[in-house]
Amino acid sequence: MKQGIRIRGVKLRPRFFVFLLLSALCIFGLIVGGMRLLDRYRGPSEEAPYVEQIGGIPVIRDLIEEDVPGRPGTLRTIRYIVIHETGNDGKGAGAASHNNYIHKEAALQTLSWHYTVDDKVIYQHLPDNEVGYHAGDQLTEDGGNMCGIGIEVCVNPESDYDKALENAAALAARLMDAYDLPMKALKKHQDFSGKNCPQRLIEQDRWDEFCDMVKQQLKAKK
Ligand SMILES: [Zn+2]
Repeated sequence: MKQGIRIRGVKLRPRFFVFLLLSALCIFGLIVGGMRLLDRYRGPSEEAPYVEQIGGIPVIRDLIEEDVPGRPGTLRTIRYIVIHETGNDGKGAGAASHNNYIHKEAALQTLSWHYTVDDKVIYQHLPDNEVGYHAGDQLTEDGGNMCGIGIEVCVNPESDYDKALENAAALAARLMDAYDLPMKALKKHQDFSGKNCPQRLIEQDRWDEFCDMVKQQLKAKK
């Protein structure tokens, strides 16, 4: 006699049970695939309005000139906030100095990011909805360059690192709120290319602390 499988008292033949299971899997696959496709056709993100200050810190929007290697102007869907550190611990290597630096370098090579933050000021170098070259993963689909907003945190000695982190957390929260991104969208440069960046945050084992700072800022917005 063939053995059946009982579900809520209804006896099912094994073959029918397998058919049901496969059908459920197919429907699940179609739903997930459809959602991904819809997401793809959502098109490029529209940039959120410029704000003059975030958490009491001025935001200076000084964009890199258009149509240079570092600013190809490619529009994309924003999926991540990618946290970096400048790795430059020389005196004077604050946000203003990096703003000058990236304006020069982006004209020469595929190098750019969206914001640089120190303890006193935030500079914006690229519109949020344009591709930048900071995550070391070229233009990989759904990658850090293709879909991330790159934020560089300064580590120069005259900048208060903790305050710079606080400012970066406020900026990240503002962007995550503006583009409706979940906590898992908050990434380290390391997540995309393996580079030891943001170096101090990683080496001091403070990434979770930083994520909590962003979470608190996001909570305050609700
Ligand atoms: Zn980096």
